[in-house]
Amino acid sequence: MTEETKFSVMVSMFDWIQKSKYSAKKRSKFRKFLDTFCKPRDYFTAVRLILPGLDRERGSYGLKESVLANCLIDALGMSRDSPDALRLINWRKGGAKTGANAGNFALVATEVLQRRQGMASGGLTIKELNELLDRLACSENRPEKISILATLIKKTNAQEMKWVIMIILKDLKLGLSEKSIFHEFHPDAEDLFNVTCDLKLVCEKLRDRHQRHKRQDIEVGKAVRPQLAMRVSDAQAAWKKLHGKEVVMECKFDGDRIQIHKNGAEVHFFSRNFIDHSEYEHGMSDIIQQCVLADRCILDGEMLVWDSSLNRFAEFGSNQEIAKAAKDGLDSHKQLCYVAFDILYVGDTSVIHQSLKERHELLRSAVNPVKGRLEILVPSGGLNSHCPPGEPCCSLIAHSLDDVDKFFKQIVENRDEGIVLKDLDSKWEPGDRSGKWLKLKPDYIRAGSDLDVLIIGGYYGSGRRGGEVAQFLVGLAERPSADTYPRRFISFCRVGTGLSDDELNAVVTKLKPYFRKYDYPKKAPPSFYQVTNNSKERPDVWIESPEKSVILSITSDIRTIRSEVFAAPYSLRFPRIDRVRYDKPWHECLDVQSFIELVHSSNGT
Ligand code: ATP
Repeated sequence: MTEETKFSVMVSMFDWIQKSKYSAKKRSKFRKFLDTFCKPRDYFTAVRLILPGLDRERGSYGLKESVLANCLIDALGMSRDSPDALRLINWRKGGAKTGANAGNFALVATEVLQRRQGMASGGLTIKELNELLDRLACSENRPEKISILATLIKKTNAQEMKWVIMIILKDLKLGLSEKSIFHEFHPDAEDLFNVTCDLKLVCEKLRDRHQRHKRQDIEVGKAVRPQLAMRVSDAQAAWKKLHGKEVVMECKFDGDRIQIHKNGAEVHFFSRNFIDHSEYEHGMSDIIQQCVLADRCILDGEMLVWDSSLNRFAEFGSNQEIAKAAKDGLDSHKQLCYVAFDILYVGDTSVIHQSLKERHELLRSAVNPVKGRLEILVPSGGLNSHCPPGEPCCSLIAHSLDDVDKFFKQIVENRDEGIVLKDLDSKWEPGDRSGKWLKLKPDYIRAGSDLDVLIIGGYYGSGRRGGEVAQFLVGLAERPSADTYPRRFISFCRVGTGLSDDELNAVVTKLKPYFRKYDYPKKAPPSFYQVTNNSKERPDVWIESPEKSVILSITSDIRTIRSEVFAAPYSLRFPRIDRVRYDKPWHECLDVQSFIELVHSSNGT
């Protein structure tokens, strides 16, 4: 292929790859395409269209499905309330209208385009397509984008336009992984990409498949593919996987993964997708200059927002807003805070080949932490230490499965994201997700069917929810006789995760007037609640009476456990609140018998 080669040739390859069932076949189609149609000097021109998500030469199009739908409607000159326009706008919805293609924007768009474009190829060349895509990414106003899309439509048929749309959306759904594409391209392509995040450089340096490239190390100023974490289902699985290793347990922060590259006065903030987030400069560059002692270094960590009035991290989602406030010089009790959990480069050397334990030491000496602004996550404390409530950063050495269990439980109770377990002896490897880091999150638990249960009590939280109800004791109804409301509720399980802070606050506010503290053991719980004598079950407050309460829909691992703690015969493993059923009256709570039937049917007993 030369730059003048038609896009239709590439489309045939895409169709073939998509249709082939086996990875080896898909790969050989790609190989054949490179060998037959591509000149090595044009590799980048072609590969950037095959791996659009990795191309950083072109900026963002600012066209996600919904905006793209509206632009296409205008580019095709359709009326907004025409059936096809509605089909594009409602591309996600299933049902008769969009049929089998629902949820796949490119396919829905093809349906619409087929009715408007001819069958014959529009004759677009690869070179023209790249130029038009460059213009699309550069244009800042909508009319210009619409006009470029109209040109693309004119120069393609519906099948070609489908692939153009997938390139714009950066998801080709070829069923061929990026790893396979890299491997087929050149045996060293993935490695080189991982340490440079530069597709153009990879395509230009590795033109000859038979000439091996010397392994390159990371450099300050060039984003590196981040080391990733492998999911594990529970603490036991994690402990087994890290058997015999020295392990550190860390909080999993819920922010933006950012690599900070400091090169003298220059500071870059690279995201996971290797985009340079210059908007963080205003809020963070000064502190980096002051408190990162090394002149040249790369830090790996999470960008978060610290709420100094609440003395804790704000919930995920406000980074951009706070970065903008910092830029505009607005005063706020919220500020950007970077938590560095690793160091990859210091002075003149890459340190990714050193052990995590050694890197922690380097991190300690390279950064002067400032609470709520620039934190470092390095292990603290001895054998029996625990994360002090209110401390923003937490990292502990694990000595046993019990330690991991406890740490995880504490994190879940605090309503944090989860934990990350790391092998202290491991190197930092670009793009690796092979299990040197393991993540454990409460919501990985497989959900069974939804259970509608009644809140009968509340437990106070610790740390940032200290003094406020953060978890609930929920109950099942004793099956009432026909046409009557239930009179008694049997304690069933304790549940706290699943709701956002706002949702949790709303339930707690609604129920607060009915919270009653009860003294143990003097006073028994209200007579309509049946509980055991097990002290683990006792809530801090009871709900005065069931008709004042609220139903929660909870999901859980389908494996229920026989309960010793709660009064119901079974309880749940890792229950999670799916939503609050303000719409459901209290008396429509699931009853014990129906629940037992459900357990038996799902266990096959
Ligand atoms: P998730 O959606 O669970 O965050 P992910 O696919 O974005 O997963 P993973 O590699 O699976 O990313 O999980 C690691 C991510 O967790 C990192 O990219 C980082 O953003 C975040 N993270 C938060 N705290 C830590 C920590 N202490 N150590 C490593 N990663 C952390």
